[in-house]
Amino acid sequence: MSHKAEPSRRSRPGLTSEPLPGGEAPRLPFAFARDQQVLLDGPRLIAGPAATALGLREARRRAGQPLQLIEEPQDLFDLALTRLYQSDPADQTAPELTFDLEDSTSTTGHRDLLDEVEDAPVIEMVNQLLRRAVQAGASDLHVEPHETGLRVRMRRDGFLQTVMDRHDVPVRRILSRLKVMAGLDIAETRLPQDGRIPLRMGGRQIDTRVSTMPGSYGERIVLRILDRSTGLVPLDQLGLKPEQIDMLERLSALPNGIILATGPTGSGKTTTLYSLLKLSDLHKRNIVTVEDPIEYDLPQASQTQINAEIGMTFAAGLRATLRQDPDVILVGEVRDAETATTAAQAALTGHLVFSSLHANGSVGAITRLRDLGLDDFLIASTLRAVIAQRLLRRLCPDCKTSHPPTPAEQAHFARLGVPAPEQVHAPEGCDACSGTGYRGRVGIFEMIEVDETLRSAVDRGASEAELKGLALSQSDTLMGQGLAQVANGATSLAETLRVVGDSV
Ligand SMILES: [Zn+2]
Repeated sequence: MSHKAEPSRRSRPGLTSEPLPGGEAPRLPFAFARDQQVLLDGPRLIAGPAATALGLREARRRAGQPLQLIEEPQDLFDLALTRLYQSDPADQTAPELTFDLEDSTSTTGHRDLLDEVEDAPVIEMVNQLLRRAVQAGASDLHVEPHETGLRVRMRRDGFLQTVMDRHDVPVRRILSRLKVMAGLDIAETRLPQDGRIPLRMGGRQIDTRVSTMPGSYGERIVLRILDRSTGLVPLDQLGLKPEQIDMLERLSALPNGIILATGPTGSGKTTTLYSLLKLSDLHKRNIVTVEDPIEYDLPQASQTQINAEIGMTFAAGLRATLRQDPDVILVGEVRDAETATTAAQAALTGHLVFSSLHANGSVGAITRLRDLGLDDFLIASTLRAVIAQRLLRRLCPDCKTSHPPTPAEQAHFARLGVPAPEQVHAPEGCDACSGTGYRGRVGIFEMIEVDETLRSAVDRGASEAELKGLALSQSDTLMGQGLAQVANGATSLAETLRVVGDSV
């Protein structure tokens, strides 16, 4: 054991203790290593240019073996720090980012300070994972214990990718840390639990919904990440065509009626509804929302979170909202007959109601409302418009390839009567897109406005096929819109068929 004191803050050049082969040195807590600029890496003691005497002394004491001192300039020290403490050695971005977690440890009562120091690598690892997911724009983070360790995956552009899969991490402590942050009971591991972690990153407010589920190797934890600050994407960046933007502006100015957005989870419905709300605000109206969860902060609206456990359902929230003198109401989702009826009543009594609905395509919303028990007259007199939407992965501009469409590819265009382009593009894969061939997404929208023709067809009980024929030309459909994005090189035919192939 070496206990010699260092003469100055700077480590001495050329000082080399005899290296000891084998022997595993314990690691220093992350915050200590970062602040004192010292790292233990097996038999090596890595010192940064500002390494402190305290740091060097403590590192030697902890190691309990002779160490080889290696002095590194700042950039190499930082790289080593990242390499040793980060979940994924390939990710070199995180340490200098500001990322302030709200103080979640205060909810756990008294914690031994020493514990905090010992937990520092775990805390840091969890923070790194969260930071990385937020930075990547991931929508979900999956933390999955398995037989030999822990796997972490994030959902990005709709697809899961592995961020980390390691067997040398303290699985139970990582899971506990996440549960502590989410305000969950860490002693309860046999029942599912839900919580949330409010985060701030670079001034952005990010809400994280946390759910745990017992599993054979420990609890699986899924975090849904809601970046409220990125909620209101400008309409022209959503992938809307100019005439579609005009239509949204027209719809947002309506005095009453129901406007629905349809699409699967993660198709961007909420973003569209918020954009409509924002447009409505231009008309100086009282806007109230009933949501689950509140996905974005709207300073100009009164937002309410539903809570079914205490009877605050969408329908109950909507009824309460109507007593608040609203002009425009956002109801997160119409998923039962009661909410559908209440929304229709609200529209009949002079309110503009925005909501979402699970339906395939735009005309399908009418069928769905019929299934929920609304009669044709009520639908005809309240429904103003339906926006069906999907998100297609955008081809990576750095590596996409092009070729003249094959006869089979041309047939897809011919079938919808859309002119085939001279070139179609396909994914390749490069470093910029992590080898996937895609980067970011583009929205496609199938929008119908319920005009007089459509209204009377709904009122007389016309079938979905008949309504579709009246409301949409082939190029207006999701498939038509998808092919238009293929034609302009934004996405591939394969991606369009994957997402909307079953909608025609
Ligand atoms: Zn690429």
